[in-house]
Parts: sequence; C-alpha cells; structure tokens
Amino acid sequence: METILLLAHTEPDGTLAKPALEALTAALALGGELTIGLAGAETAPAANQVAACGAKRYLAVTGEPFAQARYSTDTAAAEALCRAAGASIVLAPSTSRWARALAGVACRLGGRIDTHATNFAKQNGAPAVTRWFYRQRMEAVLSRAQRPWMVLLDPGCFAPWSGPAGEANVEAVPLDAPPTRTEVTGVQAPKADEQTIRPDAKLLFVAGAGWTKKQADGAVHAAEAEGLIRGFLRASKASLGGSKSLVDLSGEGEAVLRFMTHLNQVGQTGSTPRHPKGLSTCCHGEEPHVVGWRFIHQRRAINLDANCGWARGKADVLYVADAFEVMRRVNELLAR
Ligand SMILES: Cc1cc2nc3c(=O)[nH]c(=O)nc-3n(C[C@H](O)[C@H](O)[C@H](O)COP(=O)(O)OP(=O)(O)OC[C@H]3O[C@@H](n4cnc5c(N)ncnc54)[C@H](O)[C@@H]3O)c2cc1C
Repeated sequence: METILLLAHTEPDGTLAKPALEALTAALALGGELTIGLAGAETAPAANQVAACGAKRYLAVTGEPFAQARYSTDTAAAEALCRAAGASIVLAPSTSRWARALAGVACRLGGRIDTHATNFAKQNGAPAVTRWFYRQRMEAVLSRAQRPWMVLLDPGCFAPWSGPAGEANVEAVPLDAPPTRTEVTGVQAPKADEQTIRPDAKLLFVAGAGWTKKQADGAVHAAEAEGLIRGFLRASKASLGGSKSLVDLSGEGEAVLRFMTHLNQVGQTGSTPRHPKGLSTCCHGEEPHVVGWRFIHQRRAINLDANCGWARGKADVLYVADAFEVMRRVNELLAR
C-alpha cells in the first residue's frame, strides 16, 4: 500500500486555502495511509481545520521564517516534512509557492515530480497522473515506478474537502531555518478591484480586437469600450481574458484598452483558464484562440458577424449583435 503525504503551506491566518483542500480530497480518494505535512508561521489552525479528514499523522514545520514564500525556506520545510513522513507519494496543490519549490525538493530526495496534474487517481490498481501536453491539446495518463513521487495538482480539478473542525495531534518537525539573503519588508499589490484575472470567478469575459476597430459610424470608440468593459467587470466580478490580437495592439501604436496585458491572453499561446461560463465579445473565435476555452463549460459570444468562428460549433449561443449596445444594456441592468 502506498503511503501518502499531503503537503500544504498555511495562509496568514494559519488555515488552509481552497487549493490545499482540493488536494486533500484527491489524496483521500487515492486510499493509502495519509499524513498531512504543514508549513507556515502558524500551523495548528490548519491541522484543526482538517482534523476529521481521517489522516493518520499531522506533521508541521512552524515558525515565522516559513510565513513568506521564499525558495530557500520553502524547500527546507518541504524536504524536512517529506523526510519525516517517509511517504512514497507526495501530493501538493499547485500554488505558485509549491510550483517554484517542489521540483528542487524532488531532486534532493532522489525522487521524481509531475506538475500541472489535473487528476491523480488509481487506474488498474496503481496511482496515475493525468495531465495535458502541447498547450492543452493532448491529454495523457501516466504512472511512475520511482518513489518518492511528487505530484503538483492544478487548482479547480477536485471539490475542496469539507468537514467539521476538531483537535489534531500535531507532531512538530524541528527545523532551523536556512540563512536567507532577502528580507520581505512589505507587499505591494493592486487593490482586489483592480485585479482583472480572477481564477475563481464564475464567468470569463473575453474582449477581442473588435472593441478597438472602426465601428458603424466610421470611428474608433476605445475609451467607451474601456468604460463598458471595466463597468461590467466591476459589477459582475468576472475574470478578464483577451484575444492575442487585442493584447498585441499596444505594441503597434494603435488604440488600446490600457488595462489589458499579455497575462490576459487566452488561447494556444496564452492561458487556458477554468470557469463555468464564458462570454466572448468582439472576438472572431479563431481556432488558436478557442483552444484556450477547453475548460469553459458554457460558451456564449457576441459578434456582428453571423459567420464568425463561434458560429461554427464553438459557442453554445451566439448573439449576432453589436457588443457596444449589448454591454451598455447589460451594465444598465446590473446597475439596478
Ligand atoms: C501560432 C499562433 C498562435 C496564436 N495564439 C493565439 C492565442 O493564444 N490567443 C488568441 O486569441 N489568438 C491567437 N492567435 C491569433 C488568432 O489566430 C487570431 O488572429 C486572433 O485570435 C484574432 O483576434 P480577434 O478575434 O480579437 O480579432 P479579429 O480577428 O480582428 O476579430 C474581431 C472581431 O470583432 C468583431 N466585431 C467588431 N466590432 C464589433 C462589435 N461592435 N460588436 C460585436 N463584434 C464586433 C468582428 O466581427 C470580428 O469578428 C494565434 C495565431 C497563431 C498563428
């Protein structure tokens, strides 16, 4: 029987965030003997949060040096937890923090790591990882003989574990923090409202290059486009995606939407976000863009062109309409 270590870092309040709880669901479904390994400034709240999950052991590296995301301290904590658990399989949520640190830990342990797993479950009696290759075009299921085997599970693929809190018996794993050269003096981040990429949003709103093209009156209305899109995002809390043509425009000296960057680009050479619903506006729906919609369950598009790419089986609903008019009206309705 495999022994499994679920590796999680805690949040500033000492609890576990959703990606860690999703990985816990996956770890429990594997069916082996489960240990939970926690790292952070505070770990007791996290252990208590999942005290009823059925894990056999709770291990923790606790202390202020492990509060910050930092390669040296994160790898040291993860390595100590892995050695203390001695598990053959190490499962961790693919947070930016673990994604940066765990490949190095696998190397230190003489193990192997698979990243961006979308499933980790038994197939023919042995654990197997599912992941996508070639920019989400091919899905593969693979297993490995090497142990320890570390797997980083992408968020949004499992339901988060939920259960009553309790009191877990936590074993402290002693670890002197390695010397660090950097000191974190503060965090500068845009206000939550200014953040346009929201992985947890129910809706993906995609803006295409049409927003910056000449409209029926022969003029460009980029400023109005910006107002309509921002107004909709504020009211709906949707996540903002863009087509490549739109995000590339800024380099061409054309009318641009100032809040769009390459980080918003969806598609073959962009991202492949996961949201229950998607609304595409002023975007033609060409194949290199639409491959990025692979994980959007319900797809709708607004385009003036009844013959656009979305009409060819790529959208569930296509509104043949002027996106300026539609979004103006939608914003009015949302404002009520
Ligand atoms: C190797 C390669 C990789 C690529 N990778 C990506 C990628 O990752 N992501 C990506 O997006 N693209 C990618 N592309 C580019 C892709 O093929 C398209 O060129 C791009 O998606 C087109 O963007 P668009 O639909 O916004 O612009 P356009 O093709 O210019 O379409 C604009 C659309 O807006 C509509 N429109 C205009 N005004 C209105 C209005 N008032 N109301 C409603 N509709 C309106 C028009 O009818 C038109 O359909 C890639 C291409 C290649 C070759």
